[in-house]
Amino acid sequence: MYGEPAVSPRTSSIPPHILAINPYVAGKPLEELAREFGILDAIKLASNENPFGPSPRSVEAAQKALLSAHRYPDAAQHAIRRRLAEHYGVTPEEVIVGAGSNELLDLLGRAFCVAGDHVVYGNPSFPIYRLVAQVNQLQATEVELDAEYVSDLEATAAACRRDTRMVFLANPNNPTGTYVGGDRLLRFLDQVPEEVLVVLDEAYIEFVTSADFLDGNALRQRRHNLVVLRTFSKAYGLAGLRVGYGLARPDLIGVLDRVRAPFNVSGVAMAAAIAALDDGGFVQRVVEVNASERERVSYAMVALGLTVYRSEANFVLAETPKSAQELYQALLRRGVIVRPVGPGRVARCVRISIGTASENDRLLRALREVLAG
Ligand SMILES: *Cc1c(COP(=O)(O)O)cnc(C)c1O
Repeated sequence: MYGEPAVSPRTSSIPPHILAINPYVAGKPLEELAREFGILDAIKLASNENPFGPSPRSVEAAQKALLSAHRYPDAAQHAIRRRLAEHYGVTPEEVIVGAGSNELLDLLGRAFCVAGDHVVYGNPSFPIYRLVAQVNQLQATEVELDAEYVSDLEATAAACRRDTRMVFLANPNNPTGTYVGGDRLLRFLDQVPEEVLVVLDEAYIEFVTSADFLDGNALRQRRHNLVVLRTFSKAYGLAGLRVGYGLARPDLIGVLDRVRAPFNVSGVAMAAAIAALDDGGFVQRVVEVNASERERVSYAMVALGLTVYRSEANFVLAETPKSAQELYQALLRRGVIVRPVGPGRVARCVRISIGTASENDRLLRALREVLAG
């Protein structure tokens, strides 16, 4: 039946490591709340999307590119690689573009690992790292975040073994919003054995305001085996178009290009992404509003009795003294979609994206009602 797990007479032919995967649960779409509760004016603060939408320049470029939708996109991704290279002062050979950085994580697993290889990543962190390990039958060490929910870099470096192929590090981390500063990151990069590929996932880098944060791209000179992943899904407001990119040594990019499907990113998406890079003022405004609203929402939530972890991203992790599921459901009934992030250590936490000022007002009003009751 629709929605039930695949249990059919043919199940036995499906590899056990695939059957063992729990399907990814995405943030609840607005349409679903309309269907289930009849709430038509709900707000979604569940998937760290840009509440201001895409830049108008991106929309215009996408509309124009639609007229060529009968053609395959440029398989070599020339224009966008050139534009990203110019933006970062690197060569186009150091750039690869994926259908979101999710696709690049998938390519990394398939291109650099064989079954049985070992990978290391944090817990809790971005669930796709675990998925990459499971799909490719890798051994994985999941390193617990420290007491403040910050990535434990010493333990991560110590978890590397002779058969370790990759380390994934989200900085800032999702779902905690916490980050590791430059000094610690540099020490970590020196500790991880040279053969190990370090994948720095900087999906939220544009939102970082801390002065001691170090940009991963600048560290590639110091460490050869470093892949930096970024995305147009968050600050640039293009989550629905699926564009992410990787920056790395040309030979590593070349390996990823071998496994990449030729037309992995649509022409519409690439055109919108290029236009987004051209509209730096838009991103700057988005980031400024996010920083002040992040601070306002964090303080207000603490005043309401929640534990809030200091975030450098466009979301915050909040721990409730009660049940996260109850909080989530009560907010849903008030038309506010957030994201429960359990199980495990974060079982009593919800992750809440920073919205527009009026969306955040509505969130805080709903929280006040729920937590007072
Ligand atoms: C949102 C996010 C991404 C970006 O995913 P896309 O596939 O580019 O939309 C990557 N890493 C982390 C940690 C994220 O939270």
